[in-house]
Amino acid sequence: MQPLYVQVHPADNVAIIVSPDGLTLAEHIPQSHKVALSHIASGEPIIRYGQVIGHAKRDIAQNSWVREEFLSLPDAPSLDDLPLATATPPPLPPLPGYTFQGFRNPDGSCGTRNILGIATTVQCVAPTVDYAVRRIKAEILPRFAGVDDVTAVTHTYGCGVAIDAPGAEIPIRTLRNISLHPNLGSAPLIVSLGCEKLQPARLLPHHNLRPAGAGHFPVLEADPYVVRLQDFEHRGFGDIVATIMRLAEKRLEELNRRSRQTCPASALTVGLQCGGSDAFSGVTCNPAVGFAADLLVRAGAAVMFSEVTEVRDAVHLLTPRAASVEVARDLIREMRWYDDYLARGSADRSANPTPGNKRGGLSNVVEKALGSVAKAGTSALMSVAAPGDRLSSKGLVFAATPASDFICGTQQLASHMNLHIFTTGEGSPYGLAMVPVIKVSSRTALAERWFDLIDVDAGKIATGEATIESTGWEIFRLCLEVASGTKKTWADHWGLHNSLAPFNPGPVT
Ligand code: CA
Repeated sequence: MQPLYVQVHPADNVAIIVSPDGLTLAEHIPQSHKVALSHIASGEPIIRYGQVIGHAKRDIAQNSWVREEFLSLPDAPSLDDLPLATATPPPLPPLPGYTFQGFRNPDGSCGTRNILGIATTVQCVAPTVDYAVRRIKAEILPRFAGVDDVTAVTHTYGCGVAIDAPGAEIPIRTLRNISLHPNLGSAPLIVSLGCEKLQPARLLPHHNLRPAGAGHFPVLEADPYVVRLQDFEHRGFGDIVATIMRLAEKRLEELNRRSRQTCPASALTVGLQCGGSDAFSGVTCNPAVGFAADLLVRAGAAVMFSEVTEVRDAVHLLTPRAASVEVARDLIREMRWYDDYLARGSADRSANPTPGNKRGGLSNVVEKALGSVAKAGTSALMSVAAPGDRLSSKGLVFAATPASDFICGTQQLASHMNLHIFTTGEGSPYGLAMVPVIKVSSRTALAERWFDLIDVDAGKIATGEATIESTGWEIFRLCLEVASGTKKTWADHWGLHNSLAPFNPGPVT
Protein backbone atom coordinates (compact mmCIF):
# COMPACT_ATOMS: atom_id res chain seq x y z
CA MET A 1 0.00 0.00 0.00
CA GLN A 2 1.47 3.33 -1.03
CA PRO A 3 0.98 5.97 1.69
CA LEU A 4 -0.94 9.00 0.47
CA TYR A 5 0.61 11.44 2.91
CA VAL A 6 3.47 11.57 5.44
CA GLN A 7 2.99 12.75 9.00
CA VAL A 8 6.44 12.92 10.66
CA HIS A 9 5.55 13.29 14.33
CA PRO A 10 2.38 12.34 16.25
CA ALA A 11 1.99 15.95 17.45
CA ASP A 12 2.01 17.35 13.89
CA ASN A 13 -1.15 19.08 12.66
CA VAL A 14 0.11 19.11 9.06
CA ALA A 15 1.31 16.32 6.75
CA ILE A 16 3.04 16.17 3.36
CA ILE A 17 1.04 14.93 0.37
CA VAL A 18 2.65 11.94 -1.37
CA SER A 19 -0.23 11.29 -3.79
CA PRO A 20 -3.31 13.56 -3.87
CA ASP A 21 -5.34 10.89 -5.72
CA GLY A 22 -7.34 8.81 -3.28
CA LEU A 23 -7.35 11.41 -0.50
CA THR A 24 -10.47 13.35 0.49
CA LEU A 25 -9.14 16.88 0.27
CA ALA A 26 -10.94 20.22 0.46
CA GLU A 27 -9.04 21.37 -2.63
CA HIS A 28 -6.24 20.15 -4.96
CA ILE A 29 -2.93 20.08 -3.09
CA PRO A 30 0.25 19.44 -5.10
CA GLN A 31 2.61 16.62 -4.14
CA SER A 32 5.06 17.57 -1.33
CA HIS A 33 2.87 20.44 -0.10
CA LYS A 34 1.20 20.48 3.32
CA VAL A 35 -2.36 19.48 4.23
CA ALA A 36 -4.04 20.50 7.51
CA LEU A 37 -4.84 17.33 9.48
CA SER A 38 -7.28 19.22 11.68
CA HIS A 39 -8.91 22.66 11.80
CA ILE A 40 -6.19 25.21 12.66
CA ALA A 41 -7.59 28.47 14.06
CA SER A 42 -5.96 31.80 13.32
CA GLY A 43 -3.03 32.34 15.71
CA GLU A 44 -2.60 28.64 16.51
CA PRO A 45 0.79 26.97 15.99
CA ILE A 46 1.46 24.93 12.86
CA ILE A 47 3.44 21.88 13.88
CA ARG A 48 5.74 19.71 11.76
CA TYR A 49 8.57 17.44 13.01
CA GLY A 50 6.92 17.98 16.42
CA GLN A 51 8.15 21.61 16.29
CA VAL A 52 6.37 24.91 15.67
CA ILE A 53 7.18 26.01 12.11
CA GLY A 54 4.89 29.07 12.29
CA HIS A 55 1.54 30.37 13.45
CA ALA A 56 -1.62 30.44 11.32
CA LYS A 57 -2.35 33.91 9.97
CA ARG A 58 -5.97 32.87 9.31
CA ASP A 59 -8.30 29.95 9.97
CA ILE A 60 -7.25 26.87 8.00
CA ALA A 61 -9.91 24.21 7.44
CA GLN A 62 -9.17 20.52 7.91
CA ASN A 63 -7.98 18.77 4.70
CA SER A 64 -7.12 22.07 3.02
CA TRP A 65 -3.83 23.34 1.65
CA VAL A 66 -1.53 25.02 4.21
CA ARG A 67 -0.05 27.60 1.87
CA GLU A 68 3.18 29.46 2.55
CA GLU A 69 1.36 32.78 2.98
CA PHE A 70 -0.84 31.32 5.76
CA LEU A 71 2.20 30.96 8.09
CA SER A 72 3.91 33.64 10.13
CA LEU A 73 7.70 33.20 10.51
CA PRO A 74 8.62 32.57 14.16
CA ASP A 75 11.67 34.30 15.65
CA ALA A 76 14.92 32.32 15.51
CA PRO A 77 15.73 30.62 18.85
CA SER A 78 17.60 33.00 21.17
CA LEU A 79 21.31 32.17 21.47
CA ASP A 80 21.44 33.37 25.08
CA ASP A 81 19.72 30.60 27.00
CA LEU A 82 20.21 27.42 25.00
CA PRO A 83 20.67 24.07 26.78
CA LEU A 84 24.39 23.19 26.64
CA ALA A 85 25.31 19.49 26.34
CA THR A 86 22.27 18.54 28.46
CA ALA A 87 21.36 15.46 26.40
CA THR A 88 24.66 14.22 24.95
CA PRO A 89 23.93 10.89 23.26
CA PRO A 90 26.09 8.00 24.49
CA PRO A 91 28.65 6.74 21.94
CA LEU A 92 27.07 4.58 19.22
CA PRO A 93 28.27 0.95 19.08
CA PRO A 94 31.44 0.67 16.95
CA LEU A 95 31.12 -0.72 13.43
CA PRO A 96 34.54 -2.29 12.82
CA GLY A 97 35.96 -3.90 9.70
CA TYR A 98 34.85 -1.46 6.99
CA THR A 99 37.60 -0.24 4.68
CA PHE A 100 38.17 1.45 1.35
CA GLN A 101 41.04 1.53 -1.13
CA GLY A 102 42.65 4.96 -0.89
CA PHE A 103 45.92 6.85 -1.29
CA ARG A 104 47.99 7.30 1.86
CA ASN A 105 49.63 10.72 2.17
CA PRO A 106 52.86 11.69 4.01
CA ASP A 107 50.81 13.74 6.53
CA GLY A 108 48.78 10.65 7.54
CA SER A 109 45.62 11.58 5.65
CA CYS A 110 44.07 9.38 2.96
CA GLY A 111 42.92 10.49 -0.45
CA THR A 112 39.97 9.04 -2.32
CA ARG A 113 41.53 10.32 -5.55
CA ASN A 114 45.09 10.83 -6.78
CA ILE A 115 44.95 14.24 -8.45
CA LEU A 116 47.60 16.73 -9.48
CA GLY A 117 46.32 20.04 -8.10
CA ILE A 118 47.71 23.31 -9.40
CA ALA A 119 46.91 25.90 -6.74
CA THR A 120 46.84 29.60 -7.57
CA THR A 121 47.35 32.66 -5.39
CA VAL A 122 45.27 35.00 -7.55
CA GLN A 123 42.63 35.00 -10.28
CA CYS A 124 45.03 36.80 -12.68
CA VAL A 125 46.86 33.53 -13.36
CA ALA A 126 43.74 31.34 -13.74
CA PRO A 127 43.41 31.38 -17.57
CA THR A 128 47.15 30.63 -17.91
CA VAL A 129 46.84 27.69 -15.53
CA ASP A 130 43.67 26.51 -17.31
CA TYR A 131 45.59 26.61 -20.60
CA ALA A 132 48.48 24.65 -19.10
CA VAL A 133 46.08 22.10 -17.57
CA ARG A 134 44.46 21.49 -20.98
CA ARG A 135 47.89 20.74 -22.44
CA ILE A 136 49.02 18.65 -19.44
CA LYS A 137 45.87 16.52 -19.78
CA ALA A 138 46.39 16.06 -23.51
CA GLU A 139 50.19 15.66 -23.65
CA ILE A 140 51.48 14.38 -20.28
CA LEU A 141 48.74 12.83 -18.13
CA PRO A 142 48.13 9.86 -20.52
CA ARG A 143 51.63 8.57 -19.59
CA PHE A 144 50.72 8.40 -15.87
CA ALA A 145 47.99 5.79 -15.51
CA GLY A 146 48.11 5.95 -11.70
CA VAL A 147 46.98 9.58 -11.56
CA ASP A 148 43.25 10.27 -11.84
CA ASP A 149 43.19 13.86 -13.03
CA VAL A 150 44.81 17.28 -13.16
CA THR A 151 42.85 20.18 -11.75
CA ALA A 152 43.41 23.92 -11.55
CA VAL A 153 42.48 25.27 -8.11
CA THR A 154 41.28 28.65 -9.38
CA HIS A 155 39.15 31.24 -7.59
CA THR A 156 38.29 34.94 -7.57
CA TYR A 157 40.37 35.90 -4.52
CA GLY A 158 43.97 37.04 -4.15
CA CYS A 159 44.12 40.72 -5.10
CA GLY A 160 41.90 43.81 -5.02
CA VAL A 161 40.87 42.74 -1.53
CA ALA A 162 41.48 44.20 1.94
CA ILE A 163 43.90 41.42 2.81
CA ASP A 164 44.30 42.43 6.48
CA ALA A 165 40.63 43.26 7.14
CA PRO A 166 38.60 41.22 9.62
CA GLY A 167 37.19 38.28 7.71
CA ALA A 168 40.09 38.07 5.21
CA GLU A 169 41.56 35.17 7.16
CA ILE A 170 38.57 33.04 6.06
CA PRO A 171 39.26 32.98 2.29
CA ILE A 172 43.02 32.82 2.92
CA ARG A 173 42.86 29.76 5.17
CA THR A 174 40.23 28.26 2.87
CA LEU A 175 42.62 28.43 -0.09
CA ARG A 176 45.54 27.28 2.09
CA ASN A 177 43.71 24.18 3.29
CA ILE A 178 42.31 23.38 -0.17
CA SER A 179 45.82 23.49 -1.65
CA LEU A 180 46.90 20.90 0.97
CA HIS A 181 43.86 18.68 0.33
CA PRO A 182 44.39 14.90 0.77
CA ASN A 183 43.13 14.21 -2.77
CA LEU A 184 45.98 16.38 -4.09
CA GLY A 185 48.56 14.26 -2.25
CA SER A 186 48.56 17.03 0.41
CA ALA A 187 51.15 19.03 -1.51
CA PRO A 188 50.32 21.29 -4.44
CA LEU A 189 52.12 22.90 -7.31
CA ILE A 190 51.55 26.65 -6.84
CA VAL A 191 51.28 29.29 -9.56
CA SER A 192 51.63 32.92 -8.51
CA LEU A 193 51.62 36.14 -10.55
CA GLY A 194 54.19 38.04 -8.47
CA CYS A 195 52.61 41.39 -7.54
CA GLU A 196 49.41 40.07 -5.90
CA LYS A 197 48.41 40.70 -2.29
CA LEU A 198 48.08 37.01 -1.45
CA GLN A 199 51.75 36.06 -1.79
CA PRO A 200 52.69 32.34 -1.82
CA ALA A 201 54.39 32.73 1.57
CA ARG A 202 51.11 34.03 2.98
CA LEU A 203 49.14 31.23 1.38
CA LEU A 204 51.48 28.60 2.90
CA PRO A 205 53.43 30.34 5.70
CA HIS A 206 54.84 27.20 7.31
CA HIS A 207 56.19 25.63 4.14
CA ASN A 208 59.58 25.85 2.55
CA LEU A 209 58.45 27.11 -0.86
CA ARG A 210 60.74 26.36 -3.75
CA PRO A 211 60.93 29.00 -6.48
CA ALA A 212 60.96 27.34 -9.85
CA GLY A 213 61.89 29.61 -12.70
CA ALA A 214 62.98 28.44 -16.12
CA GLY A 215 65.84 25.96 -15.86
CA HIS A 216 65.49 25.70 -12.07
CA PHE A 217 64.86 22.18 -10.84
CA PRO A 218 63.64 21.68 -7.30
CA VAL A 219 65.09 18.92 -5.16
CA LEU A 220 63.04 18.44 -1.98
CA GLU A 221 59.93 16.37 -2.60
CA ALA A 222 58.03 17.39 0.53
CA ASP A 223 57.89 21.10 -0.23
CA PRO A 224 55.55 22.71 -2.75
CA TYR A 225 56.91 24.12 -5.99
CA VAL A 226 56.06 27.71 -6.91
CA VAL A 227 56.00 29.13 -10.42
CA ARG A 228 55.93 32.96 -10.48
CA LEU A 229 54.86 34.30 -13.84
CA GLN A 230 56.55 37.71 -13.45
CA ASP A 231 60.00 36.19 -12.78
CA PHE A 232 62.59 37.58 -15.19
CA GLU A 233 63.60 34.12 -16.46
CA HIS A 234 60.33 33.76 -18.34
CA ARG A 235 60.52 35.09 -21.89
CA GLY A 236 57.00 35.00 -23.26
CA PHE A 237 53.92 32.88 -22.65
CA GLY A 238 55.58 29.80 -24.13
CA ASP A 239 58.28 29.89 -21.42
CA ILE A 240 55.70 30.30 -18.67
CA VAL A 241 53.61 27.37 -19.87
CA ALA A 242 56.71 25.21 -20.38
CA THR A 243 57.78 25.83 -16.75
CA ILE A 244 54.35 24.89 -15.40
CA MET A 245 54.29 21.78 -17.60
CA ARG A 246 57.79 20.68 -16.60
CA LEU A 247 56.97 20.95 -12.89
CA ALA A 248 53.63 19.27 -13.46
CA GLU A 249 55.43 16.34 -15.07
CA LYS A 250 57.78 16.03 -12.09
CA ARG A 251 54.86 16.12 -9.67
CA LEU A 252 52.96 13.58 -11.81
CA GLU A 253 55.97 11.24 -11.54
CA GLU A 254 55.76 11.50 -7.73
CA LEU A 255 51.99 10.96 -7.64
CA ASN A 256 52.20 8.07 -10.11
CA ARG A 257 54.45 6.09 -7.74
CA ARG A 258 51.51 5.72 -5.36
CA SER A 259 48.79 3.12 -5.58
CA ARG A 260 45.56 2.47 -3.74
CA GLN A 261 46.01 0.77 -0.38
CA THR A 262 43.53 -0.54 2.16
CA CYS A 263 42.51 2.36 4.41
CA PRO A 264 40.10 2.12 7.37
CA ALA A 265 36.69 3.76 6.92
CA SER A 266 37.83 6.07 9.73
CA ALA A 267 40.05 7.83 7.15
CA LEU A 268 36.93 9.19 5.45
CA THR A 269 35.82 12.76 6.03
CA VAL A 270 32.35 12.97 4.55
CA GLY A 271 30.77 16.36 3.87
CA LEU A 272 26.97 16.53 3.90
CA GLN A 273 25.00 19.18 2.11
CA CYS A 274 21.56 19.82 0.64
CA GLY A 275 20.67 21.91 -2.38
CA GLY A 276 17.27 22.57 -3.92
CA SER A 277 15.43 21.00 -0.98
CA ASP A 278 11.71 20.28 -0.92
CA ALA A 279 9.25 19.22 1.78
CA PHE A 280 10.18 15.56 1.19
CA SER A 281 13.88 16.20 1.88
CA GLY A 282 13.27 16.12 5.63
CA VAL A 283 11.43 12.77 5.52
CA THR A 284 13.31 10.82 2.83
CA CYS A 285 16.84 11.74 1.69
CA ASN A 286 17.97 13.68 4.76
CA PRO A 287 16.98 11.02 7.35
CA ALA A 288 18.50 8.32 5.09
CA VAL A 289 21.73 10.32 4.94
CA GLY A 290 21.41 10.77 8.73
CA PHE A 291 21.26 6.99 9.10
CA ALA A 292 24.35 6.67 6.85
CA ALA A 293 26.03 9.41 8.92
CA ASP A 294 25.50 7.31 12.07
CA LEU A 295 27.02 4.28 10.29
CA LEU A 296 30.03 6.34 9.21
CA VAL A 297 30.46 7.73 12.73
CA ARG A 298 30.25 4.17 14.09
CA ALA A 299 32.97 3.16 11.58
CA GLY A 300 35.18 5.93 12.99
CA ALA A 301 34.87 8.46 10.15
CA ALA A 302 34.40 12.20 10.44
CA VAL A 303 31.01 13.38 9.15
CA MET A 304 30.55 17.10 8.72
CA PHE A 305 27.33 19.00 8.30
CA SER A 306 27.31 22.70 7.56
CA GLU A 307 25.10 25.51 6.19
CA VAL A 308 24.68 27.90 9.14
CA THR A 309 21.46 29.50 7.90
CA GLU A 310 19.81 26.08 7.64
CA VAL A 311 20.91 25.03 11.11
CA ARG A 312 20.23 28.33 12.88
CA ASP A 313 16.50 27.70 13.39
CA ALA A 314 17.14 24.19 14.73
CA VAL A 315 20.09 25.12 16.96
CA HIS A 316 18.03 24.40 20.10
CA LEU A 317 17.89 20.75 18.98
CA LEU A 318 21.68 20.58 18.49
CA THR A 319 23.25 22.33 21.50
CA PRO A 320 21.87 19.64 23.89
CA ARG A 321 23.57 17.00 21.67
CA ALA A 322 27.04 18.54 22.02
CA ALA A 323 29.73 16.32 23.53
CA SER A 324 30.64 19.07 26.00
CA VAL A 325 29.59 22.55 27.11
CA GLU A 326 32.59 23.92 25.17
CA VAL A 327 31.44 22.30 21.92
CA ALA A 328 27.91 23.69 22.44
CA ARG A 329 29.43 27.16 23.02
CA ASP A 330 31.53 26.78 19.85
CA LEU A 331 28.34 26.07 17.89
CA ILE A 332 26.66 29.14 19.39
CA ARG A 333 29.75 31.24 18.56
CA GLU A 334 29.44 30.32 14.87
CA MET A 335 25.68 31.03 14.87
CA ARG A 336 26.26 34.42 16.50
CA TRP A 337 29.06 35.31 14.07
CA TYR A 338 26.67 34.58 11.20
CA ASP A 339 23.77 36.50 12.79
CA ASP A 340 26.08 39.54 12.99
CA TYR A 341 27.33 39.00 9.43
CA LEU A 342 23.76 38.89 8.06
CA ALA A 343 22.76 41.91 10.18
CA ARG A 344 25.71 43.92 8.74
CA GLY A 345 24.38 43.17 5.26
CA SER A 346 20.77 43.95 6.34
CA ALA A 347 19.87 40.44 5.18
CA ASP A 348 16.35 39.27 5.76
CA ARG A 349 15.94 35.79 7.25
CA SER A 350 12.98 35.18 4.96
CA ALA A 351 15.39 35.40 1.95
CA ASN A 352 15.92 31.64 2.50
CA PRO A 353 14.08 29.43 1.27
CA THR A 354 14.49 29.94 -2.46
CA PRO A 355 11.57 30.07 -4.96
CA GLY A 356 12.39 26.43 -5.82
CA ASN A 357 12.22 25.36 -2.16
CA LYS A 358 8.78 27.03 -1.93
CA ARG A 359 7.60 25.35 -5.11
CA GLY A 360 8.67 22.11 -3.42
CA GLY A 361 6.40 22.80 -0.47
CA LEU A 362 8.84 24.36 2.03
CA SER A 363 7.06 27.33 3.58
CA ASN A 364 9.90 28.97 5.49
CA VAL A 365 13.43 28.62 6.82
CA VAL A 366 12.23 26.98 10.06
CA GLU A 367 10.63 24.11 8.17
CA LYS A 368 13.72 23.90 5.93
CA ALA A 369 16.09 23.81 8.92
CA LEU A 370 14.14 21.10 10.74
CA GLY A 371 14.35 18.91 7.64
CA SER A 372 17.97 19.82 7.00
CA VAL A 373 19.37 18.77 10.40
CA ALA A 374 17.97 15.27 9.89
CA LYS A 375 21.20 14.73 7.89
CA ALA A 376 23.15 14.94 11.14
CA GLY A 377 21.84 11.58 12.39
CA THR A 378 21.65 10.88 16.11
CA SER A 379 25.23 10.87 17.42
CA ALA A 380 26.88 13.42 19.71
CA LEU A 381 28.25 16.61 18.17
CA MET A 382 31.99 16.15 18.75
CA SER A 383 33.45 19.47 17.56
CA VAL A 384 32.80 22.67 15.61
CA ALA A 385 35.05 24.18 12.92
CA ALA A 386 35.06 27.85 11.89
CA PRO A 387 34.75 28.56 8.11
CA GLY A 388 37.72 27.15 6.20
CA ASP A 389 39.27 25.48 9.26
CA ARG A 390 40.49 21.90 9.49
CA LEU A 391 38.48 19.56 11.70
CA SER A 392 39.70 18.85 15.22
CA SER A 393 37.91 15.52 15.77
CA LYS A 394 36.35 12.48 14.20
CA GLY A 395 32.65 11.74 14.59
CA LEU A 396 29.88 14.22 13.89
CA VAL A 397 31.27 17.71 13.31
CA PHE A 398 29.65 21.02 12.45
CA ALA A 399 31.78 22.99 9.97
CA ALA A 400 30.36 26.52 9.64
CA THR A 401 29.69 27.55 6.03
CA PRO A 402 27.07 29.53 4.11
CA ALA A 403 24.26 27.37 2.70
CA SER A 404 25.04 28.35 -0.91
CA ASP A 405 25.84 25.02 -2.57
CA PHE A 406 29.09 25.89 -4.33
CA ILE A 407 30.41 28.02 -1.42
CA CYS A 408 29.52 25.31 1.12
CA GLY A 409 31.22 22.66 -1.03
CA THR A 410 34.34 24.83 -1.35
CA GLN A 411 34.47 25.41 2.42
CA GLN A 412 33.98 21.70 3.13
CA LEU A 413 36.93 20.97 0.80
CA ALA A 414 39.00 23.31 3.00
CA SER A 415 37.92 21.19 5.98
CA HIS A 416 39.35 18.27 4.00
CA MET A 417 36.24 16.33 3.13
CA ASN A 418 37.31 13.51 0.81
CA LEU A 419 33.76 12.41 -0.05
CA HIS A 420 30.62 14.51 -0.51
CA ILE A 421 26.95 13.55 -0.13
CA PHE A 422 24.48 16.02 -1.64
CA THR A 423 20.72 15.68 -1.16
CA THR A 424 18.29 17.39 -3.48
CA GLY A 425 14.54 17.66 -4.03
CA GLU A 426 14.21 20.08 -6.93
CA GLY A 427 17.42 18.72 -8.52
CA SER A 428 20.92 20.08 -9.14
CA PRO A 429 23.64 18.62 -11.40
CA TYR A 430 26.26 19.88 -8.89
CA GLY A 431 29.69 18.27 -8.74
CA LEU A 432 33.28 18.99 -7.66
CA ALA A 433 36.59 18.25 -9.39
CA MET A 434 38.49 17.37 -6.22
CA VAL A 435 36.11 14.92 -4.51
CA PRO A 436 33.35 12.60 -5.71
CA VAL A 437 29.83 13.89 -5.06
CA ILE A 438 27.08 11.32 -4.37
CA LYS A 439 23.69 12.82 -5.15
CA VAL A 440 20.58 11.58 -3.33
CA SER A 441 17.09 12.61 -4.46
CA SER A 442 14.15 13.21 -2.13
CA ARG A 443 11.59 12.02 -4.71
CA THR A 444 11.44 9.09 -7.11
CA ALA A 445 10.05 11.35 -9.85
CA LEU A 446 13.32 13.31 -9.85
CA ALA A 447 15.47 10.15 -9.77
CA GLU A 448 13.52 8.82 -12.78
CA ARG A 449 13.63 12.08 -14.76
CA TRP A 450 17.33 12.58 -13.95
CA PHE A 451 18.26 8.88 -14.14
CA ASP A 452 21.78 9.79 -15.31
CA LEU A 453 22.45 12.48 -12.68
CA ILE A 454 21.03 11.11 -9.42
CA ASP A 455 23.03 8.34 -7.71
CA VAL A 456 20.55 7.24 -5.02
CA ASP A 457 16.73 7.49 -5.00
CA ALA A 458 15.52 8.07 -1.44
CA GLY A 459 12.01 8.84 -2.71
CA LYS A 460 11.20 5.15 -2.34
CA ILE A 461 11.02 5.80 1.42
CA ALA A 462 7.88 7.94 0.88
CA THR A 463 6.21 5.32 -1.30
CA GLY A 464 7.04 2.47 1.10
CA GLU A 465 9.31 0.60 -1.35
CA ALA A 466 12.36 1.24 0.85
CA THR A 467 13.08 2.30 4.41
CA ILE A 468 15.31 4.91 5.98
CA GLU A 469 17.51 2.05 7.24
CA SER A 470 17.82 0.24 3.87
CA THR A 471 18.54 3.48 2.01
CA GLY A 472 21.03 4.52 4.72
CA TRP A 473 22.94 1.25 4.25
CA GLU A 474 22.81 1.70 0.46
CA ILE A 475 24.39 5.17 0.84
CA PHE A 476 27.02 3.87 3.32
CA ARG A 477 28.10 1.04 0.99
CA LEU A 478 28.12 3.37 -2.00
CA CYS A 479 30.41 5.74 -0.01
CA LEU A 480 33.02 2.97 0.35
CA GLU A 481 32.78 1.96 -3.33
CA VAL A 482 33.01 5.53 -4.59
CA ALA A 483 35.89 6.29 -2.17
CA SER A 484 37.71 3.22 -3.55
CA GLY A 485 37.23 4.35 -7.14
CA THR A 486 35.35 1.15 -8.04
CA LYS A 487 32.12 3.05 -8.68
CA LYS A 488 31.80 6.40 -10.43
CA THR A 489 29.25 9.05 -9.50
CA TRP A 490 27.18 10.54 -12.29
CA ALA A 491 28.80 13.95 -11.73
CA ASP A 492 32.23 12.38 -12.34
CA HIS A 493 30.89 10.36 -15.27
CA TRP A 494 29.93 13.57 -17.04
CA GLY A 495 32.77 15.68 -15.59
CA LEU A 496 30.38 18.15 -13.94
CA HIS A 497 32.67 20.22 -11.76
CA ASN A 498 31.48 23.48 -10.24
CA SER A 499 33.95 26.34 -9.84
CA LEU A 500 35.47 26.88 -6.42
CA ALA A 501 33.92 29.82 -4.58
CA PRO A 502 35.72 30.58 -1.29
CA PHE A 503 33.60 32.42 1.28
CA ASN A 504 34.85 36.01 1.50
CA PRO A 505 33.05 38.06 4.15
CA GLY A 506 35.74 40.78 3.91
CA PRO A 507 35.75 43.98 1.83
CA VAL A 508 36.85 44.12 -1.81
CA THR A 509 38.90 47.21 -2.72
CA1 CA B 1 23.32 24.07 0.17
